[in-house]
Amino acid sequence: MSKYKIAVLSGDGIGPEIVGEAVKVLRAIGKKYKICFETKDTLVGGASIDKYGIPLTDETLKLAKESDAVLLGAVGGPKWEGLDYSIRPERALLALRKELGLFANLRPAKIYPVLADASTLKKEVIEGVDIMVIRELTGGLYFGTPKGVEKLPDGTERGVNTMVYTTSEIERIARVAFDVARKRRKKVTSVDKANVLETTELWRRVVINVHKDYQDIELNHMYVDNCAMQLVRNPKQFDVIVTENMFGDILSDEAAMLTGSIGMLPSASLGGKVGMYEPIHGSAPDIAGKDIANPIATILSVAMMLKFSFNLGKEADDIEKAVENVLNKGFRTQDIKQEGMKVVGCREMGNVIVEEIER
Ligand code: NAD
Repeated sequence: MSKYKIAVLSGDGIGPEIVGEAVKVLRAIGKKYKICFETKDTLVGGASIDKYGIPLTDETLKLAKESDAVLLGAVGGPKWEGLDYSIRPERALLALRKELGLFANLRPAKIYPVLADASTLKKEVIEGVDIMVIRELTGGLYFGTPKGVEKLPDGTERGVNTMVYTTSEIERIARVAFDVARKRRKKVTSVDKANVLETTELWRRVVINVHKDYQDIELNHMYVDNCAMQLVRNPKQFDVIVTENMFGDILSDEAAMLTGSIGMLPSASLGGKVGMYEPIHGSAPDIAGKDIANPIATILSVAMMLKFSFNLGKEADDIEKAVENVLNKGFRTQDIKQEGMKVVGCREMGNVIVEEIER
């Protein structure tokens, strides 16, 4: 029997509720396909601050590093907002990404036909959309130096951030994009601003070079401003989008919103030995503890874990199919409710998805 070790970091707010349902789904898959998923729970974010004074302890980091994958809920909330930046809950995520070497963030944005009305865009524009945004996560404008704000002699200030990429950083994210595209519709759009920013002119050259090893994949290039426009104008043209850190931060949110529901969208962060999987939304303190959160983003994050960390494609498809089936049967959480549909809580949504898998 194959065995996988998973570190479960539920975090704050709705984190424990949604992760609880995702773990239930994982267990159902384990039982059905005779796979042992060994889960170990530990604190992260605000919950860790409350107990240990810091958002990520050495023990939690060690557990993550020694696991085969990490499942994360969400961190943060008003309770910890007054803290110094260096010990805020969100610091735990940055540290985990860095320590686990997670340089690639994968965010799918897929439209479920029955939820097409949830989008703010016209149905005919978004029906059939299935995009994977791959964002470089550890370089670019968010990490480059020099950075900071300095006082000038005249009393005003000067702020600096620097966009930096090396050939190898671009090469490895390009390879992730081409590899992922190979398992999809075999098309990559590399997004840059090569007409203005030298760093992204290098980006384009390196991507073209890596593409020589992936001649079965179609590659095109797009400036970031055009991509932002095209995502709204004709999102169906995209399969895989690969881009630098800040462009990816913005474009992945834009792509996510095509679907109209933040509670449905999973993500994967890859690059090192251990992948990390989490919903794209935050800890939703406004609905925490009420059993109304949508657990589907976290459940689909588990499907991504099976696919990308364990190569269990069939089992991952089973989860995705179960989610689609319960939506087709009319089950909805509050955030995606529609007229005539059956509104269920977080726990019940988890239960019906499990029942679907067991069927
Ligand atoms: P949020 O994503 O937590 O919530 C935004 C809105 O979406 C809220 O109205 C919330 O109720 C709703 N929502 C989110 N997830 C939902 C779900 N699964 N089901 C139903 N409704 C859902 O963003 P926010 O309010 O800006 O941030 C809240 C806290 O989360 C902050 O402390 C923020 O720093 C943190 N945060 C954490 C992460 C993370 O852990 N990766 C990401 C974003 C924000």
